[in-house]
Amino acid sequence: MEIRIERTTTPKAKPTGALGFGKIFTDHMFEMDYNPEQGWHDPRITPYHDLVLSPACVVFHYAQEMFEGMKAYKDAEGKVRLFRPMKNIERLNATNERMCIPKIDPMDALQAIKETVLTDADWIPTEPGTSLYIRPFIIATDVGLGVHPSKNYKFCIILAPSGSYYAGGLAPVKIVVEDEYVRAVKGGTGFAKVGGNYAASLIGQQKAEKMGYAQVLWLDGIEHKYIDEVGAMNVFFVIDGKVITPQLEGNILPGVTRDSTIQYLRGKGYEVEERRISIQEVYDAAKDGTLNEMFGTGTAAVISPVGELNWDGNKVIINNNEIGAISQMLYDDITGIQYGKKEDPFGWSMVL
Ligand SMILES: *Cc1c(COP(=O)(O)O)cnc(C)c1O
Repeated sequence: MEIRIERTTTPKAKPTGALGFGKIFTDHMFEMDYNPEQGWHDPRITPYHDLVLSPACVVFHYAQEMFEGMKAYKDAEGKVRLFRPMKNIERLNATNERMCIPKIDPMDALQAIKETVLTDADWIPTEPGTSLYIRPFIIATDVGLGVHPSKNYKFCIILAPSGSYYAGGLAPVKIVVEDEYVRAVKGGTGFAKVGGNYAASLIGQQKAEKMGYAQVLWLDGIEHKYIDEVGAMNVFFVIDGKVITPQLEGNILPGVTRDSTIQYLRGKGYEVEERRISIQEVYDAAKDGTLNEMFGTGTAAVISPVGELNWDGNKVIINNNEIGAISQMLYDDITGIQYGKKEDPFGWSMVL
């Protein structure tokens, strides 16, 4: 694939001070269009710009769209690294299939990500824990209000230099169990990375924030009994030394960090079970003192230890509200691999 590059003539000043997450964007973006005659065509890197779209575009009314989330890191030698990008691209196409969006050749998608990141490589921050967040997304651009899969699409990649998730070091979060609203059901779009899942979850998140909690723990949509995932993270429990995480049944997002955590722990000799786990089992373990750790996994925070759980007003404090040994090891080792500082036994870090 030949990517046309049009460089900005008015580069923006690089940010100084706190970066936050997803608030600042780089000088360039990637764009590529789809129509049935040409397929995906006209790949280009252009100055970052607003999109001009008809108000009747399918994406605005029926939410036919998808997105991905990954990061680029600068290592101590100034080399640019991605973390398991083919896993994100595989998931991008799995989401596309569910959303009736035409697939993208995986090597073209990788090339688009690489060239866009390298075009703005001087935007990758270098302070500890910082990175360049990469947001690929696709929107349906057919004009008209009839409900049908769009014939035309736009694929974009935008880049946001992002701060360290943990300004003051790894810190446990408080999570509330949601048992009124649900996020996904088997057969729905829970496994796909789509905006609609987030739109449906906002009300639970809002409720949690009002109660003073950081995020929601979603239960299964049918019985409200089994644990699905947390907000934008997959979830793990350490019970009596054994690591347990909900299995992929079509209702949870198959996280790249989740997969890496499982492989890494198994490689270290830990027993990891992927199975249904009920909220009752977690509370029983908390009560008999065998709930050693709970943590979330996701690209943004990598590992997020959970210090408090609230289920219908019943609160449990996990590991004394401190960071567990497994959480800390995973955080140190996985981020170590991402930044090219630690041994990479699985070959996960890709130098561009
Ligand atoms: C993206 C996402 C995750 C985490 O996936 P990673 O690939 O590890 O970043 C978990 N849950 C949901 C709902 C997500 O959208």
